[in-house]
Amino acid sequence: MRRLMLTLLALFVSVSARAGEVERLYVIDCGFAHAEDQSLWSPGVNVGAPIDFSDNCYLIRHSREGYLLWDTGITDRLAALPQGQRVPPLKQTWYRRQTLVAALTSIGVKPADIRYLAISHIHPDHVGNVDVFPDATLIMQKREWEAAMVAPQKPFSPEHKAELLDGDRDLFGDGTLTILSTPGHTAGHQSLLVHLNKTGYVLLTGDAVHFQSNWDNRRVPAFNADRQMSLASMEKLARVAQEKHAQLWINHDKPSSDTRRHAPEFYE
Ligand SMILES: [Zn+2]
Repeated sequence: MRRLMLTLLALFVSVSARAGEVERLYVIDCGFAHAEDQSLWSPGVNVGAPIDFSDNCYLIRHSREGYLLWDTGITDRLAALPQGQRVPPLKQTWYRRQTLVAALTSIGVKPADIRYLAISHIHPDHVGNVDVFPDATLIMQKREWEAAMVAPQKPFSPEHKAELLDGDRDLFGDGTLTILSTPGHTAGHQSLLVHLNKTGYVLLTGDAVHFQSNWDNRRVPAFNADRQMSLASMEKLARVAQEKHAQLWINHDKPSSDTRRHAPEFYE
């Protein structure tokens, strides 16, 4: 009996050591924007009405693999520009309260501690600081990488270590972090499903949707790369959210972002 117990215990220990878990999820303020015309994101709706956007990065600590950072926000250089930086085509101005590096430092994390850098897509408010983490392995869709490499201004060094995906991927093989291919906003856009022991499942949706009313009404910005793919990706996210009872965290939705605990607090 005793031997059986010991065998079972050894089995349990080896399984749990292999499985791993997400121990912490930090929401980090990675910039914000004020836009003059919401209808650029919601064609025909709220024309000329201003809207504020949040922009978060998400730091994830995995028990076996260490730190993974989801998106890097707008460039840290903006922290030195209190008047912000204007983006004329989108009638918006971007700001940063503090650098990503400073935010990480304040919770005891150095850039070199980040092992994996997963990015939703290559727009500047998501990849502004990729090269701050030269040692991290970039995790992104192959199609998005190819778009980055032919862009007139490359969003990060082409020398960056990268693991390129073609579709969905259970990143560490234990169901804690699952990349979901959600194209439409860009050709190789992806989202991240995170499992936390206490919080449950959280779906980080990148820019598959920009704010709550666009989600509720399935509205697609006119500048998205592909409208049908955008709609299909929203349906995929809705299906996964329902299956997993996941919370949908819409990155640029400021009202819901404001209700979330930001670093140094965290979710478990
Ligand atoms: Zn964005």
